[in-house]
Amino acid sequence: MTKKSKAYTLIELIVIVVITAAVILAVIVISRMSRNSAAGKTMACQANVATMNTHIEVYYAEKGSWPSALTDITNDTNCFPKGSFACPAGGIYSINSTTHRIFCNAPGH
Ligand SMILES: [Zn+2]
Repeated sequence: MTKKSKAYTLIELIVIVVITAAVILAVIVISRMSRNSAAGKTMACQANVATMNTHIEVYYAEKGSWPSALTDITNDTNCFPKGSFACPAGGIYSINSTTHRIFCNAPGH
């Protein structure tokens, strides 16, 4: 009768190490992908804001007054043929009535 060892064999240890390493690698990759996605959305939002701020300046130059609402500039189909921009992260754009600049209410935008 042979006595069965309760210790792990080398093969079992290697399998455990490989699985653990794969899980850690997957967590790192998924974490980086989601972070890059969020950074991309923030950059796209900032580009939208910069474009709309430029149109606010054009509006002021043409009309001599600041737009009172965002729709004053986004309803111009020559500038926004597809309608107003939308924040890729789901934020809502508004005009600051003091600075006459667009801001997004999404966190970090
Ligand atoms: Zn945004």
